Amino acid sequence: MGTEKFKTVVPLLRCPVCGGTMEEKEHASLVCALGHCFDLAKKGYVNFAPQKRHGPYGAALFESRQRAFRAGFYDMPLTALCEAAARHIKNTQPALLDAGCGEGFYALGLKRYFGASSRVIGFDLEKEAVRIAARGNNDVAWLVADMTRLPLQDACFDAVFNVFSPAAYAEFKRVLKPGGVIVKAVPGERYLIEIRQAAQEKLKSGAYSPARVSEHFKAHWSVLEQFRITETLPVAPEQLKDFLALTPMLFNVDTEKLSTEHIKEITIDVEIMVGASA
Ligand SMILES: [Zn+2]
Repeated sequence: MGTEKFKTVVPLLRCPVCGGTMEEKEHASLVCALGHCFDLAKKGYVNFAPQKRHGPYGAALFESRQRAFRAGFYDMPLTALCEAAARHIKNTQPALLDAGCGEGFYALGLKRYFGASSRVIGFDLEKEAVRIAARGNNDVAWLVADMTRLPLQDACFDAVFNVFSPAAYAEFKRVLKPGGVIVKAVPGERYLIEIRQAAQEKLKSGAYSPARVSEHFKAHWSVLEQFRITETLPVAPEQLKDFLALTPMLFNVDTEKLSTEHIKEITIDVEIMVGASA
């Protein structure tokens, strides 16, 4: 098991080395006409970037993130992303791509929302994250892959999701069908404001502003929708530890020394943009 779900997505894949189409071989690997071969890991993902060295983030970071996701802190943005996409996707059996899927919370949510007839691929260059995403034998096809050189065919996705992740817009445009949409989410101005205020004096950069990301998006896509969702939720001390661990902007700060005892709530603030090829 674990390989079955790749059957339906094999036509969407292409060889990351030569760009050729891929075929499944003996339920154990994917191979192109030139013989470039990638194992279908029993764990439920394919590594299309085996040469990649480990990134700066260890498994512990992704475990923290998964706990924060499972505790419900990101349910509202997930629902908003699904509903925003559904307003623009015409196909009842959509092919969806989560570009920079991390430990898979959004890709799994998309699969639940769009149902069994949808095909969902999630990829990330961080193998540790993808390994966590693939746990539990779920129905998303997971890839370890390089965003700037996607092992995916041209014009085959109804939507590309890009949530709290860097982007590669030229590649996203290449893999989108005509009429396909990009759904991008970035942290809003008040995202985790409680933690950032606690760290204020120790932060190198000034106030975070999503405006630059938004301008870059508008330069590449014609915007169909743009909106912001904000929610402040109570946070338990144990949960706060997970947020401290996953806040990239705190990586240069010694979080042990932050005074966070007074933090009793966490603000989730997300800007969502939906765009089409301009
Ligand atoms: Zn090849």
